[in-house]
This record gives sequence, structure tokens and C-alpha cells, in this order.
Amino acid sequence: MKKIIVFAFIFIFLFATACGEDAAEEYTSYANAMDTSAKITVYGKDSKAVAEECAELFKSLEGEFSATDANSKLYTLNTNGNIEAEGHLYALCGFANELSTLTDGAYNPCIYPLVKLWGFTADEFKVPTQEEIDENVKLVADSKMVFKDGGIYIENGGMVDLGGIAKGYASEMMRSLISGSDSTGAVISLGGNIVTVGEKSDGTPWSIGINSPKNDGGLIGTLSVGECAVVTSGSYIRNFEKDGKFYHHIIDPKTGMPVDNGLVSVTVVADDAALADGLSTAFFVMGIEESLTVAESLDVDVVFVTENSISISSGLKEKFTLSKSAEDEYDLIFL
Ligand code: ADP
Ligand code: MG
Repeated sequence: MKKIIVFAFIFIFLFATACGEDAAEEYTSYANAMDTSAKITVYGKDSKAVAEECAELFKSLEGEFSATDANSKLYTLNTNGNIEAEGHLYALCGFANELSTLTDGAYNPCIYPLVKLWGFTADEFKVPTQEEIDENVKLVADSKMVFKDGGIYIENGGMVDLGGIAKGYASEMMRSLISGSDSTGAVISLGGNIVTVGEKSDGTPWSIGINSPKNDGGLIGTLSVGECAVVTSGSYIRNFEKDGKFYHHIIDPKTGMPVDNGLVSVTVVADDAALADGLSTAFFVMGIEESLTVAESLDVDVVFVTENSISISSGLKEKFTLSKSAEDEYDLIFL
């Protein structure tokens, strides 16, 4: 009898240890970079090593793409007007030019002089004079990034801002890292940029919340999705008020003003996170109608939110669930 009890204890101990190991096959790493707190949860084998590698990658990419860090590669490009065309900066600048073409200039990588003029780079907000705005609209319109002689060059004196796509690119790079590992799945969350990788262990879809522009911490709804990127741009994310007027960080390159077309947030669901990030910024500038044509041609889905409506593209009809708390505040429109 004593033997049986001893065996039973050994069995329970081994079983508990095995379960403990199972539970350990999920790991969350955190990193602060690109003005964002990143949370990276990886499931499966080697989750700790992979999640930590992702956090390191995120921090190192800031050293390439920061417009304000004097040691970054982008800073060198903006100060010298050129830099050697290689690595992540070259890849992202190439994508930025493509996106500008795709969105007819609504996304403009050379927007930095305008973003700086409004003080959004250093959080030293100010409302510029019309003369300053006009001067910088012209500078932004005239400048472009070109690739030649093994370098990236900014022509006509402008400056590049990758803030509208850098987080998307970073999360796409993390996704590649995770996909190439033994992990079974992951959720990469960089503020409003969320990427899901692989499958949930129970085989059900991932549930991704869309933040409420009105209620900090609340959700307007959730999306039930497989592996994809869900990226939100919103006027509620970075803004200031002056003399009773509201100004935010997404600028229309044509007017030099923060976009004022009734949208308060745009969420793009796409396979590629850099594309989703870039389009969420561009669609915010373009407004619903023009965005829809581009969204359809690229086969991406969108959730447009205004003060009192949520409009959803057709591919999300079965995937979107409106929050109870949003029911009274918003009309739900299927596009
Ligand atoms: P967030 O960075 O808050 O997640 P976005 O992805 O929409 O939001 O990026 C907004 C940032 O993109 C701004 O802070 C600015 O740096 C840059 N930006 C603003 N307007 C434009 C534009 N029209 N084209 C390209 N970049 C823009
Ligand atoms: Mg963006």
C-alpha cells in the first residue's frame, strides 16, 4: 500500500511538472520604442527566446527609422540629403514610395516638414501661420525620394517621415521571425498595430478589439480573424486643442492641415502589416469613398469610424461584432 501511495505521488508530481512545462510554452515580451509599448505574446516551443528576439528587433528598428534620434539612419538621410541604400531603411523607403503612388500622394513619405511645423515630432504643438503652411506644402509637394548610385537621395530639400508605416514594417519583420521558428502562434501588439501569427491552440479564430475613439480603454467592437494584420489610425491618438479647435497628427499633404473629413479612425485588415499601417494613414486622408476603390483593388478590408457611425467593408460583415457599449452611440453601416 505504501508503495502505491509513493508511486501515486511520483505520478502526480511528474504530471504536474509536465503540465507546468506546457503552460510555460507561452511567453510575453515587452519593449518600448517608436513611441509605443509593444507586447509580443508567442505560443509554442522556444516562445521565450523568440518573443525576446522580437522585442530586441523592435528596439533596433527604431535606430533606423526614428526621425528625431540624431543617431538613426533616417536622421542621417534627412540631415545629409542622402544615405547608402541598404538594409531595413532601404526596404521601407522603397515601400513608402510605392504606397505614395498607390494612394495618389495621400500617403506622402516626404511629409516631415509639415509634421514638424505642427510640432507633432517633439510634442511641442503649435498652430502655424497660413504663410508657413503654404511654404511647407510646396516643399513637401516638390520633394521626393529617389534611389540612384547605390544611395537613397531626397531631391529638392525635403525630409522623410516614416512614422505612418514604421510600426507596421516592424511587426511584419517580427512575424517573419516567428513564422520561421517552432512557435505555433503569436499576437504582436504595437498600440494600434496588431498582427496575429499562426493559429490559436484551440483552433478558434483570434479575437482582435478595435479601440473606441471616445472611450479610452473601451472597444467599439471586435474582429474575428485568422493570421493577418489589423492596424488603426486615429485622430484620437496624438492631438492638441488650441482656442477651442482640435488638431491631430494625420496631415493632408495638399492643404498642410490635419485631416478634417469627419473620420475619427480607420482600421485596415490586410495580409501585410506594413501595407495595413500605410493604408490606415492614407485612407484617413482620402476619406471613405476614395479609399474603398483602393481597398477593393488591393483586396484589403476596412472599418471607418466617424463621430456617430461605423462603416464596414463587405469582407468583414461576418467577422465584426459591435460592442454593447457602442450600440447606442453608432449606426452600423455595411458598405
Ligand atoms: P500612429 O503612428 O499614431 O499609429 P499612423 O500610422 O496613422 O498613426 O501614423 C501617423 C504618423 O504618420 C504621423 O505622426 C506622421 O508622422 C505621419 N504622417 C502624418 N500624415 C501623413 C501623410 N499624409 N503621409 C505620410 N505620413 C503621414
Ligand atoms: Mg499608419
